Amino acid sequence: MHPTYDFRERVVCVTGAGRGIGLAMTAAFSAAGAAVCVNDIDADSADQVAAELRRGGHDALAFVADVADPAGVGELFAAIDARWGRIDVLINNAGIEPVHSLFDHPLADWQRTLDVNLTAAFLCTQQAARRMRDQGGGVILNIASIAGKSQPLYLRAAYAASKAGLVGFSKEAAREFAAHQIRVNAICPGVIITPMTEHLRHDEAQMARWRGEIPLARLGEAEEVANLALWLASDAASYITGAAWHVDGGKNMA
Ligand code: NAP
Repeated sequence: MHPTYDFRERVVCVTGAGRGIGLAMTAAFSAAGAAVCVNDIDADSADQVAAELRRGGHDALAFVADVADPAGVGELFAAIDARWGRIDVLINNAGIEPVHSLFDHPLADWQRTLDVNLTAAFLCTQQAARRMRDQGGGVILNIASIAGKSQPLYLRAAYAASKAGLVGFSKEAAREFAAHQIRVNAICPGVIITPMTEHLRHDEAQMARWRGEIPLARLGEAEEVANLALWLASDAASYITGAAWHVDGGKNMA
């Protein structure tokens, strides 16, 4: 194991880790020696991911909670306290992506998207940062999107608004927490092969458009997002905070 990426003795919590990018991140951090709390709203997937990690000899705890629910978030961090008594890396990854025209966007979907994609990050960050402050430091990563930074999608206004909010939130948190050695960065993936994008990948015309727009001419793998998370959370990135990182095959070069 490269010493820079040695996460032994460190505790990592990934929200929405039952599948997709979150799942890839639990695998990457476990392989680097971390103890991992696998959160998801779906009990079966959280349990299966944690059980699989434990079968591989890793330390993993499944915790089922809706991270948009303040009580559930409180219970999640109480479970981390009880199991490990510390938290070194929080990855706010849980997200949803409803598709609506703004002309008839249901208010409930707008609010739920902001709750899951943005308010949940606030709730988890507050819990984690209090503990990290008392420990003397930590790392928080917020999984935003190119949709929230530089690349509008289509029919995803709530998603784009929530992700833009998450980028701004990350910078503000980075500014305030720097004095406590807590680093905060946002990650802005492009189109990544996960269940969230499965319906789009059946659309051959859409796939051809993407291949034309993405300089690397392919979609990204969840593991490629996890690699960036691992680096940002590691001591190799010790001087890096308050940035929003594209991982998108070169689609956005701003
Ligand atoms: P995904 O395959 O849909 O996985 C998201 C996971 O989060 C699911 O297991 C989901 O559970 C869980 N989840 C949803 N709401 C939750 C809540 N309130 N509390 C706890 N868990 C919850 O998505 P993904 O593609 O891996 O995306 C992960 C993150 O990356 C998201 O924030 C997404 O916006 C962002 N992102 C993805 C892409 C992409 O191309 N895939 C691009 C840019 C950004 P259920 O399935 O039970 O709902």
